[in-house]
Amino acid sequence: MKIEQYRIIEKNQIKDFVNALISLSKVVAPVYKGYNNYAFQEIESADEVSLKYIPTIIPPKKYFLPKRETILQFDTKDEMKIEPVTEYDNLILFGVHTCDIAGIKCLNMVLSDRPKDTSYLIRKKHITIIGIECNDYCDEYASCSFVGAHMPTTGYDLMFTELSDCYIVHIHSYKGVEIVQNTGIFKPANEEKFEELKALRNEKFKKFSNEIPTERRYVPDLFDRSFNATVWKELEQKCLSCGNCTAVCPTCYCFDIKEEVDLTLKVGERYRVWFSCQLDPFAKIAGGIDFRRERSARQRHRFYRKFRYHIDRYGMIFCTGCGRCSRTCMAGINLKEVLTSLIRESEAKIWRKWL
Ligand code: SF4
Ligand code: SF4
Repeated sequence: MKIEQYRIIEKNQIKDFVNALISLSKVVAPVYKGYNNYAFQEIESADEVSLKYIPTIIPPKKYFLPKRETILQFDTKDEMKIEPVTEYDNLILFGVHTCDIAGIKCLNMVLSDRPKDTSYLIRKKHITIIGIECNDYCDEYASCSFVGAHMPTTGYDLMFTELSDCYIVHIHSYKGVEIVQNTGIFKPANEEKFEELKALRNEKFKKFSNEIPTERRYVPDLFDRSFNATVWKELEQKCLSCGNCTAVCPTCYCFDIKEEVDLTLKVGERYRVWFSCQLDPFAKIAGGIDFRRERSARQRHRFYRKFRYHIDRYGMIFCTGCGRCSRTCMAGINLKEVLTSLIRESEAKIWRKWL
């Protein structure tokens, strides 16, 4: 942490700052939608923004990987015309929590791997991320401390942290420098505010204690022992296969490719849409074979995609602890409870071996 990278903004200047952003670009921010629900949406005034919010229903991944996206258009009436399409917008995302920034980092990892997802990468280049740090837990569903997504690390251009009488802002990229210069509202951080930030982070380490009865480093072992756990069979009885948990997950990126043609059958477009490993057709292959027919196998797959497979490939857990899947599940399947049950079952097996 270097003090030169930090700036201060007074609390009563936040609205001026957001309005200045709106004059520069399209701005998306968390907005209250009623019944303790929030959504990222385009704002026209700083008055619409909720600075304190629990994770939005859909994460900001919808701006990086839209739910439906045209990827090419074709017209074969007179001659074969095929045009690849990339949809993007200059966009400032304001007020993104560290868990959602962790989700974007997971998407970056996968979609910049080979074969590179060019549409995603172009879109990402045009998006500026301004984070806001959570100083308190959002609710009982979150497990951000378990996966280490509760502290700002990387993946943003500016990060706002609330102090007693102002916000301290970390500048983390050239885009961040430009915003600070163009808005002209910030002043340099002084030693006193810098020390307050350090004290706040120390306090936060204690406050955001691990919510799962194991440590992150034991997760691969836990999952290596849990492929045949009875926990998956129990989930079979509960899960409705609705796919909500994957739609709201900031690290789920599976999609399907579809085509639409007009009545001549010669003009149309190819597009991709979000898809879910929890839905019945997802694992169906030629010949009508479905290699994950049981809901228990689909649920197990979801958890292994979050907590095991990507550790081997990318060295990262693909859960940000945002809690959205648990908050949204109509069947009451709770990620923290599933992990705790896996740990208990695995411990019981180990003890049986030794007794
Ligand atoms: S949201 Fe719940 S019921 Fe729906 S697929 Fe996910 S775990 Fe199953
Ligand atoms: S698995 Fe659940 S808690 Fe983890 S990132 Fe996805 S939605 Fe959030």
